[in-house]
Amino acid sequence: MSRFRSVRIRLAISHLAVVAVGAVSVVLVARVAAPTSFETHMADMGMPGMSGVMNGGLRDSFDAAVDQALFVSVTISVAVAVAASVIAARRMAAPIDRVRTASRRLAEGHYSERVDEPLELELAALARDVNHLAATLEHTEERRARLLGEVSHELRHPIATLQGYLEAMLDGVLAPSPEVLMSMANEAARLNRLATDLNLVSRAEEGVLPLERRPTELGALLESTVRRLEPQFVDEGVMISLRPGPPVLVDVDPDRVAQILTNIVGNALTYTPKGGSVTVSWTAGPGAAGVTVTDTGLGLSREDLERVFERFYRADRSAPGGTGVGLTIARSLARLHGGDVTAVSPGEGAGSTFTIILPTASDGHAEGGPT
Ligand code: ADP
Repeated sequence: MSRFRSVRIRLAISHLAVVAVGAVSVVLVARVAAPTSFETHMADMGMPGMSGVMNGGLRDSFDAAVDQALFVSVTISVAVAVAASVIAARRMAAPIDRVRTASRRLAEGHYSERVDEPLELELAALARDVNHLAATLEHTEERRARLLGEVSHELRHPIATLQGYLEAMLDGVLAPSPEVLMSMANEAARLNRLATDLNLVSRAEEGVLPLERRPTELGALLESTVRRLEPQFVDEGVMISLRPGPPVLVDVDPDRVAQILTNIVGNALTYTPKGGSVTVSWTAGPGAAGVTVTDTGLGLSREDLERVFERFYRADRSAPGGTGVGLTIARSLARLHGGDVTAVSPGEGAGSTFTIILPTASDGHAEGGPT
């Protein structure tokens, strides 16, 4: 036998059980307690002669009247109980059916499906949960579709370039010179970088990138990253300096923060012409530290300031090698830590400042200053 029961049957059984208990208690009261109580009342009213009157014929008539009244009331109660259980079950079943239909449509991929909230508190909570699930699925699906569109758009350019070179070489109109092969290698490297960045950005945005957080001395971390990037600045003729700040311990994954910093300092180098300068500094406040990277480079327009954090957005499309996801990854990584990355710029041509906010470790202050 199935262990499942219809709500209608359960409700009908519970209503009928109430009727049955009511009927039994009325019979017991009428048969056992009522005659004694009646005689006691008669005695109290000064009619002791009435004692024992409930025996014999009067008792039989009383029982018959009670039985008749009971039969009528139980019949009415059963009818009302069945009707009430049918109405209640229908009221409960209708919103449940709507939720079931919505869930089935969601499973079929109709993520815009929503359920009206019924008046019943618990059913309204169920409908709200289903609507929340639908909204989350819809949002994920939108992001997936957008990402796929952006990825195919971004892949098209390097692939078309490679195809162009190869076809030109096959047709004999282009010789496989070292310069041509170098251009092809650059496009292939860009594709490779794109694949790596995409993997990272999707994992960072989904929040599934594991962080190995530990209290880290911020000054030392900045110093080692800046020192590692210094030779590239020397090659490009751009000056880089690290301005010492207060000793502070941040609660971060140092490799990921080095990655954020490498991207932002690397951008500052890319978008600052020869002779310019980049300054890295930091401050510490209650609960958070802020690292600023200021350059004297190309700067950003007001519109670009927010858009540079979008996937694949490149304000300067002529810049070589950029995939447009570096800042998206940097911001996602900072947000994974509970921090952020923001940008300000006085305008195009006037340089820019990127700020990385990071949470401090619980005791906040490091022993000694930055090394
Ligand atoms: P990319 O790989 O193109 O550098 P990012 O996400 O790191 O991708 O940067 C997005 C865009 O933001 C860049 O293409 C560039 O136009 C702009 N940008 C980033 N950093 C700077 C900066 N320091 N100065 C001027 N523009 C910048």
